[in-house]
Amino acid sequence: MKRFEDKVVIITGGGSGLGRASASQIAKEGAKLVLVDLNKAALEESKSGILSETPSAVVELVEANVAEEKEVEKFVNFTIDKFGKIDGFFNNAGIEGKQNLTEDFGIDEFNRVVNINLNGVFYGMKHVLKEMKKQGFGSIVNTASVGGIRGVGNQSGYAASKHGVVGLTRNSGIEYGQYGISVKAIAPGAIMTPMVEGSLKQIGGDNWEEAGKEFVSVNPMKRFGKPEEVGYLVAFLLSNHADFINATVIPIDGGQSYKY
Ligand code: NAD
Repeated sequence: MKRFEDKVVIITGGGSGLGRASASQIAKEGAKLVLVDLNKAALEESKSGILSETPSAVVELVEANVAEEKEVEKFVNFTIDKFGKIDGFFNNAGIEGKQNLTEDFGIDEFNRVVNINLNGVFYGMKHVLKEMKKQGFGSIVNTASVGGIRGVGNQSGYAASKHGVVGLTRNSGIEYGQYGISVKAIAPGAIMTPMVEGSLKQIGGDNWEEAGKEFVSVNPMKRFGKPEEVGYLVAFLLSNHADFINATVIPIDGGQSYKY
């Protein structure tokens, strides 16, 4: 199925994990991609991985920090100058931050996490929605988390930012539906990416793999999710098949967030 033939899709955090897996799937379905990340080497690796799977893929790279509005404006302008439109935007770059009790979380750490995960998502929506409104079409998928719909603990910055992403999604979806634009969020559970590996190392140190087994033992499916499983969901949500899904958040967590 080539749902993205002649479509242009921007993906932030495209150098790793969920961004990279989604880019790979969407490229297979024919999209022209603009991958954005802080990490230039990771971007290059994503591009060469995608080209080895899909030699006909068109992949442009932009090194940018989503927490800087000017840099967000830069990758949006780059995409319009290069391709003339934006069909899909996976507004995904984010970090977990250090785990700590609320009283010890630290103001600087709180601001750092919120700046990237929430302000970054807002800047992305601000600049992309302006273009999509002019075009009269488009789809945005923001990456929230189960930490954006449930309490997890030890994650003040992450929880605040991801709950905020859900709020921004509902707000903008309601504003922009009338212009033919849909805005949705995904709420992944634990998906095995470098970010989750880092998180398990914070919990278990050298025994992080054991900590991982314990972590998924309470999941109804008893395993971590795979990045490509998120890639299939994001491809569907950014495609025209999901145009009437708007202002809502879709969990992808093996059922964990509904478990009593
Ligand atoms: P990851 O660390 O594998 O990839 C994140 C990418 O984002 C990296 O390439 C990193 O360089 C980039 N990035 C970080 N800060 C950036 C910035 N300021 N500007 C531009 N790029 C930046 O992590 P991942 O697991 O793929 O996470 C992607 C998103 O999914 C994040 O928003 C994360 O919070 C969310 N998420 C992940 C999980 C999971 O289990 N993996 C669960 C819920 C939510």
